[in-house]
Amino acid sequence: MKYKNYIEGRWVESDSRRTYEVKNPAHKATVIGEFQASTPRDAKWAVDAASYALTGWANTPAPVRAAILFRAAGVMERRSDELAKSIVREEGKTISDAKAEVRRAINATEYSAGEGRRMFGYTTPSESPNMVAYTMRRPLGVVAVITPWNFPLAIPAWKIAPALVCGNTVVFKPASSTPLTAVKMMECYVDAGIPAGVLNLITGSGSSVGNVLVESPDVKAISFTGSIEIGSRIYTDGARALKKVQCELGGKNGVIVMADADMERAIEDIVIGAFGSTGQLCTATSRVIVEESVHDEFVSRLIARTGRIRVGDGIDTNIDMGTLSSASQFDTVLKYIGAGAEEGAKLAFGGKALSGVPYDEGYYVQPTIFTDVKPEMRIAQEEIFGPVLTVFKAKDVEQAISICNNVRFGLSSSIYTNDLTQAFQYVNTVETGMVHVNAPTLGGEVHLPFGGMKASSVGHREQGTAAVEFFTETVTVYINHAAKKI
Ligand code: NAP
Ligand code: MG
Repeated sequence: MKYKNYIEGRWVESDSRRTYEVKNPAHKATVIGEFQASTPRDAKWAVDAASYALTGWANTPAPVRAAILFRAAGVMERRSDELAKSIVREEGKTISDAKAEVRRAINATEYSAGEGRRMFGYTTPSESPNMVAYTMRRPLGVVAVITPWNFPLAIPAWKIAPALVCGNTVVFKPASSTPLTAVKMMECYVDAGIPAGVLNLITGSGSSVGNVLVESPDVKAISFTGSIEIGSRIYTDGARALKKVQCELGGKNGVIVMADADMERAIEDIVIGAFGSTGQLCTATSRVIVEESVHDEFVSRLIARTGRIRVGDGIDTNIDMGTLSSASQFDTVLKYIGAGAEEGAKLAFGGKALSGVPYDEGYYVQPTIFTDVKPEMRIAQEEIFGPVLTVFKAKDVEQAISICNNVRFGLSSSIYTNDLTQAFQYVNTVETGMVHVNAPTLGGEVHLPFGGMKASSVGHREQGTAAVEFFTETVTVYINHAAKKI
């Protein structure tokens, strides 16, 4: 099946007349579809269409814009099974992880629709007599939304919905390896009655269309999620052109397990955090720091629990962990496993690519655990983005927090303890934007801000009321209503 771009209210072919194939990572030979290999001209067309549609959309009352979002959320709800299957087929996660992602996308769309009746400014007393002073919000203009492959629906949803409700028009560039879910999401907005040019979709390679989206003077803001390498370039180029830019980047998220913790609960959550979605989450748990006195017991119970994980094609409901998303992810994860062993960490579980039926058809790696990990090792510092967990020992909570903080990233973290003093010591000193106590590092609720410290994020937080802050200009208004100068 051949899929098209959506520009100016129509499904259209790329100017290149070329398409590219996307394959199912659980069945390397199976083609999911052919997608438009977009060019800079397509990107320019999409930006022009969004610019042309801007005035009409910005002048549409926000509750009317919101009504379209509510309808889009309704269409997503009706098509949720199909959307979840499309996520599994192009990304490789399990069907239950995919269903949770669809739920999150619907929640984000509904929440943003609700903002259509809020988007508050405020009034204050003025220093001058007869002066009314207040603030209000205006849209930014055309916004570029550039997203990664690991959440092909939820990340686009939580960027696009607030951008639209705030009155911006959008050019959406999904990851080149997950365009099917993006096309389906676009269809949901089309069914919901999104006006021509307000939301435009272009598929294909970021290196081909990226420059136009980042450089065009008509694009006023960029919302990006992806790697540090690309994100820092977009941030720099965007800043040079004085655009508003937000970048959500990587993570190297730590969980602290103190001796007094409910170990059963900690292990269940750590297994979900490390191996859920095959570890390909920015909020995945990749480090565990365990208080010395319970370290050995923790490791043996963690290994026993990890041994029960069922790996396979995510579409099968009996599976706990799916395939990696691509050949390059597969190579990267195996390279890091090799580096861990070389640097002297102890391979306590897994560590190999899986083979035989059905594994030869996909990019399967065992859930993997390293112990005796030193903080300076590469597997302790770099984002692996796969099912690899590293375990450290700490003598007390201070040392545990210090190991947790000793990375360039600062997205998410967690502590397991029932001691209020330790919990608050952690909450107040850990260097992450998302902080959990007795809960996994994963996820986030759509009505709360999402983002990290240090190299994990730059620019405004996403979601919650922070999204409206990013996607609007605040205008400060002074009105003197005295008929004459007093
Ligand atoms: P990526 O390689 O940086 O790609 C992200 C997006 O940027 C893709 O759509 C990509 O298109 C596009 N792109 C590539 N080159 C570009 C250019 N020159 N100009 C403009 N856009 C360009 O990231 P990824 O490999 O898809 O995703 C994995 C990364 O995302 C991980 O580091 C992960 O931690 C991070 N992530 C962060 C969060 C968070 O919220 N903090 C959430 C999820 C993922 P192509 O696909 O065509 O290359
Ligand atoms: Mg990439």
